[in-house]
Amino acid sequence: MNTFACSDPTHQDSAEFFCINPFCQEDHLICFAQCFKTRKHLQHTKDIEKISELQSYIVQMKFDCTELLDQINLFQQQVKINLDKLKEGIQSKYLISQIQLAQLNAKQINQVLTSIIQFKEQKQALLSSLY
Ligand SMILES: [Zn+2]
Ligand SMILES: [Zn+2]
Repeated sequence: MNTFACSDPTHQDSAEFFCINPFCQEDHLICFAQCFKTRKHLQHTKDIEKISELQSYIVQMKFDCTELLDQINLFQQQVKINLDKLKEGIQSKYLISQIQLAQLNAKQINQVLTSIIQFKEQKQALLSSLY
């Protein structure tokens, strides 16, 4: 087990505890002789861990972090799938070739014109939902 110096460089003893209180303004590595006896961290002793727990704390952190990254990766894949679908939808709705146009009947051309008329508004709505 490694020893760690106290966060306060003027303290002689090595750190025996570390503080994980998210609101604590003190340094995190704590020696017993000076830090603890000067009552630092006294308001949140439930957040004080033995220095021997530091390694396993870091390992746990690694698990948590990996789990978070996995979730972000899944989210990223899902976003990509959704954006691909959106792009396909836009292409099939608005990108009409002249050949396709020549093959459409009057009712279908009417639908195309409806789409074209609504395009600007839909484009604006889409862009503002993306940003
Ligand atoms: Zn100290
Ligand atoms: Zn603290």
